[in-house]
Amino acid sequence: MIQLIRGFKDILPGEVELWQYIEKTVRSLFEDFGFKEIRLPILERTELFARSIGEDTDIVEKEMYTFPDRNGDLITLRPEATASVVRSYIQHKMYAKDPVQKFYSIGPMFRRERPQKGRYRQFYQINAEVFGIDSPFIDAQLIFLAMKLFSMLEVTDAKPHINSLGCPKCRLNFKESLSAFLSSVTEKICQDCLRRSKKNPLRALDCKNSSCREAMVDAPAITDYLCSECSQHFETVKHVLEKFKIPFVIDKHLVRGLDYYTRTTFEIQTGSLGAQNAVAGGGRYDGLVKALGGPDQPAIGFAIGLDRLAEITGIRNKDLLQKPDIYIAALGEKSMPLAFEWSCNFGLEGIRSEMDLSNKSLKSQMKRADRLKASYVLIAGDNELEEGSVVLRNMTTKKQIPIPIESLVEKVKAEIKL
Ligand code: AMP
Repeated sequence: MIQLIRGFKDILPGEVELWQYIEKTVRSLFEDFGFKEIRLPILERTELFARSIGEDTDIVEKEMYTFPDRNGDLITLRPEATASVVRSYIQHKMYAKDPVQKFYSIGPMFRRERPQKGRYRQFYQINAEVFGIDSPFIDAQLIFLAMKLFSMLEVTDAKPHINSLGCPKCRLNFKESLSAFLSSVTEKICQDCLRRSKKNPLRALDCKNSSCREAMVDAPAITDYLCSECSQHFETVKHVLEKFKIPFVIDKHLVRGLDYYTRTTFEIQTGSLGAQNAVAGGGRYDGLVKALGGPDQPAIGFAIGLDRLAEITGIRNKDLLQKPDIYIAALGEKSMPLAFEWSCNFGLEGIRSEMDLSNKSLKSQMKRADRLKASYVLIAGDNELEEGSVVLRNMTTKKQIPIPIESLVEKVKAEIKL
């Protein structure tokens, strides 16, 4: 038997209702805040990710699903959404109409990481991106929105961890001092960190290796190197979060695994996920639009892991499962076509119905109606039909009443009060 690929998964009925509920909540929240949905391709040119996420990141170096198209062009299954949203913003010159654009999207991402609980090779993200606003208010508002979504989905212990990565100006001095620090701990850090320590020392702060993590505890903090504008920007973000009464943690070593971030960066963590404790991550990427060939527009965004969110939400899937309103037990040659017609008309009237087309016994059909947790059963045997009415059974009260077959759908509808 052919099995699915390691790190990939099926989301089946029974679980998918929860995903639909989360997606519905996301759409209504973001749309209430003026975000528009954007749907972008899953395949993009490899260069887009290499240039935006950064050549020396784990994602680009080790995790992308990249392959040559039949004409030799290198293409990649998107490992994240921001690069594509930026590409689209530039390609369609959306900034010309209005530089301020707010987008959300929901979809699959692909990274060839080591699969484990909470970490998949195809996973889903909810993304929000705002272009054209450099005010720190929007940074705080994005964190507020993510936290609002978590509370709507009954996630109880989510907490933002925030940091500022400054601008290229503040980063210059910081990089130097971090490089110097890395040279003092060369025997404790991994080969990747050693290799990246001169060109891209920030990556060492994000290394998953435990000995690197230990070695980095005393590393310098970027917040000590912020220029006055970046420092002021970060202070305002914190101040607005306090006003929103959102408790947060300052994590001076939070840099996140992508090169494009500037100023505010954040991760939302929870205690309920075990080792993979981040449920969302994001930040500013003020230089990226320009670096990819667009105008000099600031931008900020975040990604929430939908798979992880589905694991920690307090909403219970069993409360969302859809059951048939009515099960039609058709018994006999004559009743079958009539029952089939009713079943179609029930559907058109917004009444969920289910029926058996193989002429099974009443006993076995009642069993199936029970298993499906149908609220009502319509018992339609040939004998009943001859008398001009069928039986409607309320599966909770067990009460049975006759329903005339003339205008049956309307009569049932009135009876079951949907
Ligand atoms: P990132 O794009 O790495 O900042 O990730 C943003 C969010 O996506 C994380 O906080 C996770 O919730 C989720 N995520 C990232 N990678 C994976 C993965 N391999 N499997 C499941 N969720 C993931």
